[in-house]
Amino acid sequence: MSTEPFSAVEVIAIKRDKQVLTEPAINWFVDAYVRGVVAEEQMSAMAMAILLNGMSAPELSAWTQAYIDSGTTMDWSALGGPTADKHSTGGVGDKITLPLVCVAAACGLSVPQLSGRGLGHTGGTLDKLESIPGWRASLTESQMFEVLQTTGAVICAANETLAPADRRIYALRDVTATVESIPLICASIMSKKIAEGTGALVLDVKVGSGAFMKTVEQARELAQTMVATGKNAGVATRALLTAMDVPLGRSAGNALEVAESVEVLAGGGPSDVIELTLQLVQEMFEAAGVTPSKNPADSLTDGSAMDVWRKMISAQGGAVDAQLPSAKYNHIVTATRDGHLSKLDALAVGVASWRLGAGRARKEDAVQHGAGIQWHADLGDAVTAGTALFTLHTDDESRFAGALEVLENGYSIGSKDEIVDRLPLIIEKIK
Ligand code: URA
Repeated sequence: MSTEPFSAVEVIAIKRDKQVLTEPAINWFVDAYVRGVVAEEQMSAMAMAILLNGMSAPELSAWTQAYIDSGTTMDWSALGGPTADKHSTGGVGDKITLPLVCVAAACGLSVPQLSGRGLGHTGGTLDKLESIPGWRASLTESQMFEVLQTTGAVICAANETLAPADRRIYALRDVTATVESIPLICASIMSKKIAEGTGALVLDVKVGSGAFMKTVEQARELAQTMVATGKNAGVATRALLTAMDVPLGRSAGNALEVAESVEVLAGGGPSDVIELTLQLVQEMFEAAGVTPSKNPADSLTDGSAMDVWRKMISAQGGAVDAQLPSAKYNHIVTATRDGHLSKLDALAVGVASWRLGAGRARKEDAVQHGAGIQWHADLGDAVTAGTALFTLHTDDESRFAGALEVLENGYSIGSKDEIVDRLPLIIEKIK
């Protein structure tokens, strides 16, 4: 006789039949899966039932909490000050985390950021930072506390004990066509952010060809679901829907994006990167309910955000003044005629950068730190025949052909009236 309080088949049938799962049933199902009592195929069936039939807000809060309860949680109350974090759903050229944590810390917030590695065409923050010689992503909780206390910000890898149920369910989703489920995406992201122990959280939900969510409607639904789940767990959560139809800044690729972030921290850099960084920082302060100790924009020109960067990178072994890696080979794409850059597609740029070696195809692959792509004109800019439009970087010359193939369809030069409409950088706020 089983001593388990529920039957996996009966719990799956409830979701299959569009009925509501109770909190005890959810807690048991996730816990029993981690214990090996609920089998992989039963969790797969449940994931598909959730994808097809959705979850109510209370069900989703319980499902997310069950992921959190499968592991450990972090607590930063000993810092004695407000904590806030940002999570982006991922995009091309999205290096915002790097300047953002420094600006927020320079203005009085503590930012405990657990980040991931990239998979597919979007880059991961840890891959970018690992291009800095010596920088270490793995910290113990006490090392994390020390970096946070002395510098105001820390970016490191989530350890294996944080929401371990999510790690296993995520791998199952990948092979059962259930990655796209909004409740499952929400539980996956929010369980890790809630377990991380941040007091406030700002979500940057990207919209457009280079993003997970291709339409404003899908992105809005995901953002509303995540904001409600965060609030139900006691984390002051809000979201911005932001543009990812065109890539962010002027470069994609690990070391290239670190270099661009350092430009921003030195008071220069592309205007869209600066604007989005400052908007998200403002949201972090508002969500945390505190006033910045100075105008966040000033921290980029008075050197204080750069000071945080230098301390934070050095604290994790990074040689902050060392030359960043550069790729062995580069290839320049020039404009074939005069006109305007009338199309610049984020997905094409992201896939080109990935094919050059900046990203990985499988979790275990290594990335090339110097690989990637720079675009020398923004959508709508005037260009003249013969001038450089893109520079492609890779350590492996045979990769140029595949990258150029996808890039060719990702841009065009046309007249002023042929410039494609772009999404506004900040599309919508969700509180
Ligand atoms: N990131 C995650 O951590 N989980 C998802 O499901 C999607 C993006």
